[in-house]
Amino acid sequence: MPPVGWVKVAVSLPVHGLYTYAVPHHVGVLPEGAEVEVPFGTRKVTGWVVEVLDTSDVEDARSVLARTRDEVAFTPGQLALYRFVADYWLAPLGEVIGTATPSGSTARTRRVYVPTDAGIAALAGEGAAVPDGPLASMLREVIARPGATRTGLSRRLREEVDDPARALTALVSRGWVEGRDEQVQGPRDTERWAVRAPATEDTAALAGLRGHATAARAILAKLADGAVRVDELDAGALATLLRRGAVCVEERPRTDGVHVGEARTEAPPLNAAQSAVIEAVHGAGTWLLHGVTGAGKTEVYLALAARTLAAGRQVLVLVPEIALTPQLLGRFAGRFGDRVAVLHSQLTGAERLRAWRAIARGDADVVVGARSAVFAPFGALGLVVVDEEHDDSYKQEDGVRYHARDLAVVRAHQAGCPAVLGSATPSLESWENARSGRYQLLQLRDRATPRPVPRLSILDMRQERVADPSGGKPREPLLAGAVHDAIADALDAGGKAILLYNRRGYATFVECPGCGAAHECPSCGIALVYHQAARRLHCHTCGYHRPFDPRCAVCGGTFEVLGRGTERVAEGVAAAFPGVAIGRMDADTTAERGAHARILDDFRDGRTRLLVGTQVVAKGHDFPDVHVAAVLGVDHVLGMPDFRAAERTFALVTQLIGRAGRGAAAGRVFLQTRHPDHPVFSCVNDMEAFAAHEGQLRRALGQPPYTRLVLVRLEGVDRAATHAAAVALAEDARARAVAGIDVLGPSPAPMPRAVGRWRYQVFLRGRHVGTFRAWLRQLVPSWRPVPGVRRIVDVDPRMMM
Ligand code: ADP
Ligand code: ZN
Repeated sequence: MPPVGWVKVAVSLPVHGLYTYAVPHHVGVLPEGAEVEVPFGTRKVTGWVVEVLDTSDVEDARSVLARTRDEVAFTPGQLALYRFVADYWLAPLGEVIGTATPSGSTARTRRVYVPTDAGIAALAGEGAAVPDGPLASMLREVIARPGATRTGLSRRLREEVDDPARALTALVSRGWVEGRDEQVQGPRDTERWAVRAPATEDTAALAGLRGHATAARAILAKLADGAVRVDELDAGALATLLRRGAVCVEERPRTDGVHVGEARTEAPPLNAAQSAVIEAVHGAGTWLLHGVTGAGKTEVYLALAARTLAAGRQVLVLVPEIALTPQLLGRFAGRFGDRVAVLHSQLTGAERLRAWRAIARGDADVVVGARSAVFAPFGALGLVVVDEEHDDSYKQEDGVRYHARDLAVVRAHQAGCPAVLGSATPSLESWENARSGRYQLLQLRDRATPRPVPRLSILDMRQERVADPSGGKPREPLLAGAVHDAIADALDAGGKAILLYNRRGYATFVECPGCGAAHECPSCGIALVYHQAARRLHCHTCGYHRPFDPRCAVCGGTFEVLGRGTERVAEGVAAAFPGVAIGRMDADTTAERGAHARILDDFRDGRTRLLVGTQVVAKGHDFPDVHVAAVLGVDHVLGMPDFRAAERTFALVTQLIGRAGRGAAAGRVFLQTRHPDHPVFSCVNDMEAFAAHEGQLRRALGQPPYTRLVLVRLEGVDRAATHAAAVALAEDARARAVAGIDVLGPSPAPMPRAVGRWRYQVFLRGRHVGTFRAWLRQLVPSWRPVPGVRRIVDVDPRMMM
């Protein structure tokens, strides 16, 4: 039988280009957006129909094997967005679609892999060492991504290992890795609720019950106030009550993961500056809203959202990370109640799909979400807000390396609606876009509820010394004298303090003073960081960790712990202020779901009065009675080998300052540094001054935002082969370069080895965006894969390490 037609398919593989397939009769007519299974080489892969053809454009087209889902995965409007992403971020269309659409998987469990202690010891060469090659590569990958699936691990190793799945099986059989089954919910759209059956008596329902009596009584008491989800009730007692007809079960639409609440709070009357902003934002375009913390930006977002909803349209609000912005979320929920849907990163595939459908149906019309929410299927988008637009977490650092803020601007443009980008410290890219007229700059210069401007003191730590108790040379203290005194005053006055130290763990380095032995990561070759609570050494690059034995295995001496992280800083602060409760907030203490909110609640309610942490303490919250905010350590951010080091330091310090001095008390703000004369510190809190100074430097050095950058990184276990691939790639690019384009490198990455792979990088730089883009479109898809070497193309890179 002849085929019913032909289609062009984007396959979920890292291959540029689309492939034509015939559609056999038994599959039936396929529309654009259909998800299919197709043969590719010797494999079967998932793909999506992106074009329906009248006739085949190739001879001998292979046939689609099956359609794997009834509903279409995307609409033509969404496809246009995916095509933009593929073109701009130089990613294969199939990978973009795979990233952007929630999976329709109906599996209830999935098998994930984690390393065993024996595996970790084996990688370090203890006992039965792991042989170099596929097994070592796979073991490193499992350690770096504990909890990944076989498919995920295989995808990451496909350039490097011939048969990744076999390597994984071999590791499991040797006891170096173990598989676990993890529950994932099926994509049911309903859930079961128990309700009290009408006209039944408690006494009759409970009569003669023995074993379940207490539990049954508790269920009836709960149901007296209304319906309760079945999974919250005792199953045995519920079954009995059902049998006796006292209780019924109803299927209701699921709400978890979609809606957040029903409370309503009133909008305050806007002040003149806020009203001017609302007036200005109309029609299509992009507005950069610059205002210090507390200037009333969130109130502006809420008012714009209310206006949009009143016009019957939907609102997208992007935030850097849901867990870090509980206050913003609470205010949206408070204002718009159950019209708000939250898309957070912990949703399962099924939950995400459910939220997706609610958005497509128009049941949810304010969507607050992190990065990937930019792909949500709005039918009537009327406003896009990007809060903290400068935040690096908008950039996806894996797979399709898109930037959610930049894509949000494109989405708003496609929808013909406003995009509002807000920040107290806008990125220099957005600032330049505003200066050049592509965006319109709006400023809120004063705080919405006036409060005294905090005073900033810059403390030169080279001048601060305290005696060493063990008789050595005087040392640099953790807290400068002035900081210590200010915290003491704040505590005496019933106030609180926030202290930032931007590195986690206890000690950054452990070394044996006797023989000089140190602990390095076997995968990355860098010093392991000591974590005291866990008594383990951790690699902050690849996640490798091992128990810490304070005795040196070589000479029997006792290891010295050097340098500090938040864990040690908190200990030092506790010693300086005995009896004062301290909270610590960093990636280690916030790993558990809900931990972040708990730490902030404790601090807000006064159960802790000092809050020590990494940059997370500078984000997304605003508390009364914070009398002091101090940056204890930021010099290592400033010293990063990245042209944005000064910009990040500026943003971090300026954001932290915004946290001090709420209410009547004038806040005090301190900055401890060994570089007190660095120009970035003289600009703190003054965006215009910083942008002028930094802009001049960037322009002189040909750096973004005055040029466009693409980072190509080559990674491989074989150092020589990886280097050779980098040289060949740079030569090819250089030979084809035209005026206005520079090819820089190759050079070893600042982090020359990670997760067992050597890393080399080549920068492509263009002065004129049009020429540069056209050149890249020719160049990048022409590169062939190099066996054993992974190639990463990062457009507008944010991480240079
Ligand atoms: P930002 O988002 O810029 O940090 P917010 O919108 O959170 O600022 O405003 C800071 C504080 O001022 C909040 O407590 C907010 O409720 C309050 N606020 C903002 N605008 C007004 C206004 N027009 N009238 C009264 N209070 C306001
Ligand atoms: Zn490592």
